[in-house]
Amino acid sequence: MAGSKKDFNSVIRVAMILCLAFAGATPLSASAVATDAVISGDKSRTSFTMMLSQGVTVELFTLANPYRVIIDMPDVAFQLPKAAGRTGKGLIKAYRYGLFAARKARVVIDTVLPVGIEKAELLAAGKGAVRLEVSLKSIDSVAFGAGTGANKSAEGRSKRVSKLKTKRGASRPVVVIDPGHGGVDPGALGKSNVYEKDVVLAVAKLLRGKLEKSKAYTVKMTRTGDVFVPLDKRLEFSEENNADLFISLHADSIADRRYASRVRGATVYTLSAKASDETARQMAEKENNADAIAGLRRMDDEDDGDVRDILIDLVKRETANFSADFSNALVGRLRERVRLSSKPQRSAAFKVLKQTRTPSVLVELGYLSNSEDEKSLTSASWRTKVTKSIAKAVDAYFDRRTVLAR
Ligand code: ZN
Repeated sequence: MAGSKKDFNSVIRVAMILCLAFAGATPLSASAVATDAVISGDKSRTSFTMMLSQGVTVELFTLANPYRVIIDMPDVAFQLPKAAGRTGKGLIKAYRYGLFAARKARVVIDTVLPVGIEKAELLAAGKGAVRLEVSLKSIDSVAFGAGTGANKSAEGRSKRVSKLKTKRGASRPVVVIDPGHGGVDPGALGKSNVYEKDVVLAVAKLLRGKLEKSKAYTVKMTRTGDVFVPLDKRLEFSEENNADLFISLHADSIADRRYASRVRGATVYTLSAKASDETARQMAEKENNADAIAGLRRMDDEDDGDVRDILIDLVKRETANFSADFSNALVGRLRERVRLSSKPQRSAAFKVLKQTRTPSVLVELGYLSNSEDEKSLTSASWRTKVTKSIAKAVDAYFDRRTVLAR
């Protein structure tokens, strides 16, 4: 297992972020195979070693609640011993592994305490094989927060993103923007004949421009014109493009004129089987009705079951955690510049958020039934503010997924 001195020279170690690539990596015609994994060390320092049949690109990051270390690798098949991962040692409680998405393998290491990734290396192990060595050390929870990169400045971020780009080549994170409604389905209607479908398309295009300018993401839109797109086509689009983040944009309206002058502001929704409250439940019902409005058959019966199935699956639970992470980041950034609703974070069974592997949120930008909100939603300066906030949240979210190597 030990690499020779000469092998050691061929190690590539990325100092800034924990995104590793192996120098001798062969083109990925066949999948690398993980054949063994060993844990060693104690409660102050623990190392996790995995044998791979060939070089791969590796991305590592840490997560809290509960404390975990995530190792993402494309195209890895696992042929580990049956009991692998069930018990740990030192800082590692246990680990699990499997496909996170098509061609995306993931190892999730549960730790007993907050940990930092002290070192991560890919070492030649002979006959084309490599050894991934990850060394974890115990840190306090405050240092853990800093280590996720969540508090890093924009300058720090762009530096790391450019490193990431050179390492990962074309595989920039894919952000799918989903402007709601379109074509035959206008969505909510404003007092002065402003359509939701037009507002959200304009905001989506602005947001795309902002994200593309940073050159850190590949941005796709479920629609770029005034055309109806069924909800499952939006889901398919996200899946086909291997989206790393899905942002659905909407604007609300309330029918009851008595409250229209008071109810306003932006709300961020995530998926849940059970709605966070009655307003959220009604909102999901309204948005899920888009297909029916456009004349498509609704398939309500299977809906609840679908959501429940999604929520119990382990891998999908990781997706739900990421969605919550993004929702937190987004509400934090929006709060700085635009008005939020009285309860800006809610959840319900939105069909368009039923994504098994892509973290997703639905943003209600404001209320078209409120004259001030309607003015904002149609103003160029407000649109600039709101897209700036969303773009910042996207940056913060992907920052958290890269970790500084210290
Ligand atoms: Zn809508």
